[in-house]
Amino acid sequence: MYGAVKEELAQKLSQIQSEGLYKAERVIVTPQGAAIRVRDGREVLNFCANNYLGLSNDDRIRDAGIKAMEAWGYGLSSVRFICGTQAPHKELEKKVADFLGMEDAILFSSCFDANGAVFEPLLDEDCAIITDSLNHASIIDGVRLCKAKRWVFKHADMRDVEEIDPDTGKQAKGLERCLKESQGARIRMIATDGVFSMDGDIANLQAICDLAERYNALVMVDDSHATGFVGKTGRGTWEHCGVAGRVDIITTTFGKALGGASGGVIAARKEIVEYMRQKARPYLFSNTLAPSIVGGTLKALEMLTATTELRDRLAANTERFRTRMTEAGFDIRKGVHPICPVMLYDEKLAHAMADALLEEGIYVIGFSFPVVPRGKARIRVQISAAHTEGQIDAAVTAFVKVGKKLGVL
Ligand SMILES: *Cc1c(COP(=O)(O)O)cnc(C)c1O
Repeated sequence: MYGAVKEELAQKLSQIQSEGLYKAERVIVTPQGAAIRVRDGREVLNFCANNYLGLSNDDRIRDAGIKAMEAWGYGLSSVRFICGTQAPHKELEKKVADFLGMEDAILFSSCFDANGAVFEPLLDEDCAIITDSLNHASIIDGVRLCKAKRWVFKHADMRDVEEIDPDTGKQAKGLERCLKESQGARIRMIATDGVFSMDGDIANLQAICDLAERYNALVMVDDSHATGFVGKTGRGTWEHCGVAGRVDIITTTFGKALGGASGGVIAARKEIVEYMRQKARPYLFSNTLAPSIVGGTLKALEMLTATTELRDRLAANTERFRTRMTEAGFDIRKGVHPICPVMLYDEKLAHAMADALLEEGIYVIGFSFPVVPRGKARIRVQISAAHTEGQIDAAVTAFVKVGKKLGVL
């Protein structure tokens, strides 16, 4: 059989290549950080990691991970409910629930798994899920796994309307319209990313919670691009938007700002978490989190609870980059998030510019269709607390040089 499959895959792969969508992987030969080395030996400044707080290779987190491994072992070879629960797992669930302002929390190997877990146990065919059109792939997949009827609302559109979306040419509904249409459902849940990864825009949780209360729906927020640094004390978009106590379920990752290893969580009201422990399939049928990751994440939460220094430095770095790039004449999507999309619109230009920036020692990635809408190609810059002011300025200087050469400025 394989001969035919091989042929088909070769064709599909060359199609991907000819469409310019082939994802090559650059090999890094150092730990993750603001400055890294790639395989040809060059040192480059990294502006494309989710290492928002610079904790990916932080000494205190590494030490905590090593100590946890020494005390609790390398792995547990078990799922949680058989023999995969140690005291630190319980401690992390308590601490992360507190950090997120929730009653309880349940750990997963990843946030992808948390999102794959969260919908199916709660929502049956007589229920409804109402989801933002730009939600992360893992929410989309989680929704697919549940039997609830699905409504998709146009990204960030809170209105009671249905109209043609100029970006897609298709009919699109606002959130309130979806809520009106789904009134017959037994349980309804609105699901949204807290921060959308391509634009760095923050969900309007005030409006979403208002509508949820008016139309009697649950609210679920995936705060993967927010936990640890968005909001005054880094608790996430619920803090930034001032909706404490009004969100029912938060999912998030330990694989971005909180040290960047891996792991995810559902934090929620206590009955929801208790029910997930009984029913969530990625929890019941996938291995427990490794002790080193539990120890490292506990340390990250301890550090971020003690001081807001890192999130404050990240905010200052973000402001510095956004201001200087705007002054230089670049079109940066407005916002406050360390995801800074440098809009170029033209797909070829975005990739050419990213390549030219790498030559200048600045590692960034160009994004184009289908990751972002056609004609909205961009370079996504991600700022970190680990960047020095000098490194931020070096990035701006390189952008200006390359921007002039390619006719952007
Ligand atoms: C990164 C991300 C995830 C996946 O998190 P992992 O822990 O790496 O699986 C899920 N949702 C959103 C919004 C993300 O940005």
